[in-house]
This record gives sequence, C-alpha cells and structure tokens, in this order.
Amino acid sequence: MMKAIRRHLGWKIFLSYLIVLLVGSIVLATATEYTAPTAFDHHLAAMNDMMMGDTSMMGEATDLELDLFTNFRNALNEALGLALAAAFTATVLVSLIVSRQVVAPIRQMMFASQRIADGHYDERVDVPGDIAGDGLDELAQLALSFNQMAAKLEYTEDIRRQLIGDVAHELRTPLTTIKGSMEGLMDGVLTADVQTFQQIHRQTDRLQRLIDDLQELSRVEVGAYTMNLLLQEVQGLVEITKTTLSHQFEEKGVTLNIELDPGLPLVYADEDRIGQVLLNLVGNALQYTPAGGVVTIRARQERDEVQISISDTGVGIPDDHIDQIFTRFYRVDSSRSRSVGGSGIGLTIARHLTEAHGGRIWAESPGTDQGSTFTFTLPVAG
Ligand code: ADP
Repeated sequence: MMKAIRRHLGWKIFLSYLIVLLVGSIVLATATEYTAPTAFDHHLAAMNDMMMGDTSMMGEATDLELDLFTNFRNALNEALGLALAAAFTATVLVSLIVSRQVVAPIRQMMFASQRIADGHYDERVDVPGDIAGDGLDELAQLALSFNQMAAKLEYTEDIRRQLIGDVAHELRTPLTTIKGSMEGLMDGVLTADVQTFQQIHRQTDRLQRLIDDLQELSRVEVGAYTMNLLLQEVQGLVEITKTTLSHQFEEKGVTLNIELDPGLPLVYADEDRIGQVLLNLVGNALQYTPAGGVVTIRARQERDEVQISISDTGVGIPDDHIDQIFTRFYRVDSSRSRSVGGSGIGLTIARHLTEAHGGRIWAESPGTDQGSTFTFTLPVAG
C-alpha cells in the first residue's frame, strides 16, 4: 500500500484531500463535543452572574430565553470559527506541500526545456525521490525520462557536430587532388593523357564511395531501415559472400577458405544486412592481405549464439588501435587505407548492423603483419 502511494501521484493528491477532510472532521467533532459545551457553559455562567446581581430580572421569561439563545449562538459561532481556522490552516499547509511537490518539478522541467530549445543540451532536472529504489512516482519518472531525452539529444548533437567536421575533412583530400589536377591541366603543367584522367577518375570514385557510405551510415545510425528477420542458414549467407567476391580474390591472388562447423543451428537474420556485414569484413580482409595470403571464414556455435569469424594473414592491427577501429572514420594507417580507397566507415556500419541483430562484433590481432581476425555473433533462432 505504502509503495503504491509513493509511486502514484493520484494517490498522493487523493490522500492530501483526505487529510484536509479528516482534520476538518476532527476539529468539528472536537468543537461540538468539547469546545461548544464549554463555551456554552461559560456564557451561561456569565448570564447567571448577571441575573444574580440584578433581581429585577427574575421572572422575565422572554428576555431570559432570548439571552439563552444569543449565548448559545455565540458559543456555536466560536466553536465553528475555531474549526474553520484549523481546517483553513490544514488546507493551506497541505496545498503548499502538494504544490511544492507537483508544481516545482513541472516548473523546473518547463525552464529546462526552454533552455534545451535554446541549444543548452547539457541541461538536466532534479529527479525527486530515490532513483535506486522503486519509490518513483509519475513526476519523478517524467523527470527521469526528461533527463534521458536531454542526454540523447546532447549525444546526437555531439555526433552531428563531429560528423560535419569529419565529412569536411574527408571531402577535402579528393577535392584538393581533383582541383590540383584540373589546374595543372589548365596551366599546361599536366598533360591531358589517360593517366591524368585516370587519377581524376579515381578521386571522383572515392568521393562517390564516401557519399554512398555516409548515406548508409546515417541510415544505420538512426535506425532508418527495416529489418526483414527470417530464419537463415549461416552456410547460405557465407556462400553468397564467397560468390560475390571470388573474382576479386582470384585477381589479387589471395585464397578464400570456408570452414564451417557441421550442424550449425539456424539464425534469425536479415539476409541483405548480414550479407553487408560479411561483405565488409571479407572485403577488408582481402584489402589488407597481400597477394599469396589466405582469408578464412569460420563459423561455430557457442552456447546460444553462432560466432562467425573472418581471419586473414594480412597486415594485422597494432594493439593500441584495435579498440578504435569500429569508430567512424578511424583508420590504422590513414595514408595506406586512403590509397586503397577506404573511408573508415565500413566497420562502423558493420557494428551497427550486427547489434541491430542482437549480436556483437570485435577484432583480434597478434600485431602488425601477423594477420587479424574479425568475429561477429548472431543469436541462435528459437
Ligand atoms: P576502411 O574503408 O578504411 O577499410 P573500415 O571501417 O572498414 O574502413 O576499417 C577501419 C580500419 O580498420 C581500416 O582503415 C584499417 O586500418 C583497419 N582494418 C579493417 N579491417 C582490417 C583487416 N582485415 N586487417 C587490417 N586492418 C584492418
């Protein structure tokens, strides 16, 4: 019962009115039971004294009745006046407490929302009550949600600002190269041959890829895509990736092996989205593995998830970079991955998509030139 009262504003308001009613009733009962008779007695005694002092009044029945009535009325008025004062004090006190509890947090939220609308995203409100316990009423929960919303807005705003800076930085390099080549052509410093045009074409290609990746990133970051989760066989998903990339593997002279544990359970997955994750990871493995190297896709069941890993014998990742590679635009070696056209977004997209499936993703590497292994998990269906 106490818990319900603590957690519901309606109960609190109802109880406060009940208290006022109770105080009024008690005072009224006390007045009729004790105060009124005492006051009445007091007035009667005063009247008696008057009568004793003035014997001429004896026998004047009508005047006596009138005085008795007046005294009774005075006594009742006094008692009721007292009851009214007590009820009034109780009402003022209870109203003050209720309005402090209800109006103050609402006013605070109103001012905070105005400040947030003005761009002060670090604004927060006090949460009345004990957050750790379960004694939060609707207002406290509203304050809590308000703070969560403000935190989310602040985070989104940070990301937006950072993204604008990152994008400007990423666009600058290819644009500068294109501009330089064009100026060289116009000034006659560069000859208008196939090589020059190929270089310009490579940079426009890079710009195109960057824009496509950014579009995809913004879609996955805000979750603006639909997931078509269906029962899937891991083998089927892996085979599609192999077919898509086999030509590029052959061309570069890198071997692609597939080693799946037998009897793998089915997983719930969006074929296109997980295909995208696989394509990203296997594509990276190919990109960062020199000719003659080997890339292996493995899958095994680990408790209630299937772990799919992509290992390569390529350039590897130094220990101090491994935690950051899933961060947007992060590249271990900027000049090297830029030269191969990497935008540093692929792994960020892969992480978002894996997490949207309820899975995890991580990377391991013994160090530079010792290869790397990227693993992601998918929950077992059922
Ligand atoms: P990019 O388009 O640059 O490859 P990603 O987000 O896919 O962007 O990868 C981020 C960075 O992680 C890469 O620039 C690279 O430095 C590193 N990386 C990713 N996969 C591998 C890999 N298989 N081997 C070594 N380094 C890798």
